[in-house]
Amino acid sequence: MPSTRSLPVIAIVGGGFSGAALALHIARSMRLGQEVRIVVFEPRDKLGAGLAYSTVEPSHRINVPAGKMSLYPDDPESFAHYLEQTEALAGDRQAYDAQGLAYPQRSVFGDYVGAELAPHVSSGAIEHRRATVTRIERSGSRWRLQDAAGAFLTADAVVLAVSHPAPALPAALEPIRHHPKLVVDVTKPGALDVIGAGDRVLVVGNGLTSADVVAALHGRGHVGSIVSISRRGLRSRGHVSQVQEPFGDFSSQPSHTASHLLGRIRLTLKAAAAQGLSWHAVLDAVRSQGHEIWQHLPVGERRRLARWVRPYWDVHRFRIAPQVEAVLDTAIATGRLDVRAASVRAAAVSGSDIVVTFRGRYQQVPAPQAFDAVVVTTGPAHGDVLSSQPFLAAMREAGLLSACPTGLGIACDLHAVALGADGQPNPGLYVVGPLARGTFGELMGLPQVTEHAVFVAAQAQTFLSHHAASLTLDRAS
Ligand SMILES: Cc1cc2nc3c(=O)[nH]c(=O)nc-3n(C[C@H](O)[C@H](O)[C@H](O)COP(=O)(O)OP(=O)(O)OC[C@H]3O[C@@H](n4cnc5c(N)ncnc54)[C@H](O)[C@@H]3O)c2cc1C
Repeated sequence: MPSTRSLPVIAIVGGGFSGAALALHIARSMRLGQEVRIVVFEPRDKLGAGLAYSTVEPSHRINVPAGKMSLYPDDPESFAHYLEQTEALAGDRQAYDAQGLAYPQRSVFGDYVGAELAPHVSSGAIEHRRATVTRIERSGSRWRLQDAAGAFLTADAVVLAVSHPAPALPAALEPIRHHPKLVVDVTKPGALDVIGAGDRVLVVGNGLTSADVVAALHGRGHVGSIVSISRRGLRSRGHVSQVQEPFGDFSSQPSHTASHLLGRIRLTLKAAAAQGLSWHAVLDAVRSQGHEIWQHLPVGERRRLARWVRPYWDVHRFRIAPQVEAVLDTAIATGRLDVRAASVRAAAVSGSDIVVTFRGRYQQVPAPQAFDAVVVTTGPAHGDVLSSQPFLAAMREAGLLSACPTGLGIACDLHAVALGADGQPNPGLYVVGPLARGTFGELMGLPQVTEHAVFVAAQAQTFLSHHAASLTLDRAS
């Protein structure tokens, strides 16, 4: 490899799955004469794990079978082969469902991504800087980054891969902010250690994180009651017992309004049922055609979907692993878990109790109830991501970044180039992963995140080759 000083530099901020997949695909497609210096800023010791796959909680499993999660769109079985070769599931008696499909612990997927990156890190093709980026500024046609240790890097392109900001505390829980048994961020190691075996627990939020919490508490021997609430009382669904192909065509004559799209989905659900197929097949078709569907909807219609339909979409599209579903079903059947449609109106500490007042969806009179612990599982605050870190807020202030009008992340164009305050693309500044989904549509789970990383890798490489050529011309003239 030639001296890194002469190479164009790409700085990737965030080495979770998106940043790691991007680095890997750039490294794999480098050719002689088109090399790039790849620097990934990631404070965690492992590249590729990020928020989702760094958990060491044994009950946290991937929520689709292993055969559907891969770093390589052209090799969907890559993770499954890794599991075979490494015998990573040998000690995990609960890894397989009744059909023999593997749902490994999430950390195993993180190990797989780390293992795929390892040769590129050892060869120096990918540099892992264990540091948090604290500042990014324009420097002529390049970018200047500073990290928390005060070190600087000048880069030709920057990719923001910082997807999941910490969850926000709901305003009604503010009065109990300092209570020792309020858990706001369940992703912090040992976050649930404060909960005792017999504690009465309130879980605020009913999605995948809530399912993770109930399963993790079960795994720790928790026997107390759990109330789990969300405005609509929806709970994440499981997988279908028989494998089905996606059913429905939503892209050849695409809808231009949210209501037309929803009407079409309803009709397709009926047609699927008439053929003996469940809703899973239709939702899988919507998901796989998500990019095309989204591109034909004006921003106002996207916003309507994000605001009104997203809670329904999330619980059907993000399914829980069968092992987790079994824990939840048993807890509901035995009366230990109560899933309610309600919102928190007020919270206060009273003696050793946390008293929470609810407003039920179908009930006008607020009802107080005492708990020992409260766990927030409302998920990462993506809509506020530009306020989540000072360097992002400063980039917004400088007009380099703007919030996506859908409320789903950072505004970018169809090349994944970040849009500034003036709505114009900022050449060399990219967004990869879930924060770009306001532009690209469904972009949360694998394989969409993988495909997007491959796409952004190609975009950035094309930009860097033109950029390097223009810098050479500038120097020569
Ligand atoms: C809990 C959870 C479970 C999931 N499970 C599944 C699943 O089973 N199957 C599936 O298909 N999908 C799943 N997903 C969805 C999907 O896989 C994730 O959304 C995906 O991993 C996104 O990764 P990311 O790298 O974009 O984001 P993140 O995981 O959030 O990674 C961002 C990284 O950026 C780093 N970072 C942040 N700020 C800075 C900074 N200033 N400087 C340097 N680094 C910084 C952070 O340390 C972090 O590691 C899950 C998502 C979550 C949240």
